[in-house]
Amino acid sequence: MYLDAFSDNSFETNCWLIGADGTDDAVVVDPGFSPERVRALLAAAGRTPVAVLATHGHFDHIGAAAEMCGDDLPLYIHEADVLALSDPEAWGAGYEAPPVPVKDVRTVVDGDVLAFAGFRIEVMHTPGHTPGSVCYRTDGWVLSGDLVFAGAIGRSDFPNSDPAAMRLSLRRFLTLPDELPVLPGHGPRTTVGRERLRNPFLVGL
Ligand SMILES: [Zn+2]
Repeated sequence: MYLDAFSDNSFETNCWLIGADGTDDAVVVDPGFSPERVRALLAAAGRTPVAVLATHGHFDHIGAAAEMCGDDLPLYIHEADVLALSDPEAWGAGYEAPPVPVKDVRTVVDGDVLAFAGFRIEVMHTPGHTPGSVCYRTDGWVLSGDLVFAGAIGRSDFPNSDPAAMRLSLRRFLTLPDELPVLPGHGPRTTVGRERLRNPFLVGL
């Protein structure tokens, strides 16, 4: 499997680049602010981007979405966060940001299955941090966005956050198998089992 990640902003947001063996395709997850860097990394790996996935609508995750997608690539984002692309203030981000005119936006909902870059990717709607936060999971990894980090969890004190929904989403995360690698929206990789054991925010859920 091809897997690379980098962080290009002060929020230390991870941009994940992933592709299965047996294909030259790759998916780009949460393109922060450096589409040229994404393209350079993919070119060096001999990979062609086929889709861009957003775990949620916060600007540090979708800042480069329009530039990254250009005319050709679709951006996938949950329907409850799609307003973040055009009107983040109305969406409830609590800030004003320039609209990101992504040309080809495709909304997802819980249970959708995306087939890209040799993967079967299932959409898990895990609201709380934002209304449309999702995890993307395969049999080999889960992209947890800003739901779970190594030793921490995402904030649920934004204007459009929902702490009660966050708790339910964290419980759902804990139904995933222990050995599953977790690729979070910020910070280092971890596993479901490690977080189950060591993450103080998951104790007692
Ligand atoms: Zn966020």
